[in-house]
Amino acid sequence: MVTKNLEVPKRALAIGAHPDDIEFGAGATLAKWSDHGCEVSMLICTDGSKGTWNPDLKKSDLIAIRKAEQLLAAEELNVAGKVAFLGEVDGELEMSGNLRKRITLFIRNLRPNVILTHDPWKRYRLHPDHRHVGYLVLDAIVAARDPHFFPEQNVAPHRPDELLLFEAELEDHFEQCKGYENNKLNALLCHQSQLESTMGISAASIDVDTVAFKNRELSKLDRRSVGEEFSLTEGYKRISEL
Ligand SMILES: [Zn+2]
Repeated sequence: MVTKNLEVPKRALAIGAHPDDIEFGAGATLAKWSDHGCEVSMLICTDGSKGTWNPDLKKSDLIAIRKAEQLLAAEELNVAGKVAFLGEVDGELEMSGNLRKRITLFIRNLRPNVILTHDPWKRYRLHPDHRHVGYLVLDAIVAARDPHFFPEQNVAPHRPDELLLFEAELEDHFEQCKGYENNKLNALLCHQSQLESTMGISAASIDVDTVAFKNRELSKLDRRSVGEEFSLTEGYKRISEL
């Protein structure tokens, strides 16, 4: 069954592997919900320390740059909640009980009605962090809802109402985002350190490349193959039985 436009949640928590993943996957949806009074929070699991082609850039500098870029991007989406960083090493995030526990604590503390994250079942995906974060969030949702997981956290259990998986293998839920596409594009472009490596924008032809990048991202929002009304739309796999 295909569904569209959830009732705007009171609180939403988006969890991504790297700075910029949430904006790529759900930026326009989060801007829309923020505009309608939803308290959106973001949790970034890794430090982004592999995200450069420049071998001379110091790792600690890159980590600081990417954190600052993420905070700017959150402003572009007008998020009202927390922007938090778990600080795992980029590219080396492993599925561990400890990480599951840390994500569980975020869910229990923030009490989101909707959680958004990577689809871990996306086929032929190369990047391990996206896969691992997707699985960890699913596992953390199970732990967050049941009181016998991590009782030492001393926080009430919490069961979200909905899970939306972005970059999904099979999309069955659609959020129309007309009017918020520029928030998404501007938030993506806050990640200046990623222009060349991720967005295909080189310094030598920045204007032309930026226009091309925006057009590519806008065309990804075109889901009219599903229905005429979905021209500017982000798509998800929706899981409601949590
Ligand atoms: Zn990523």
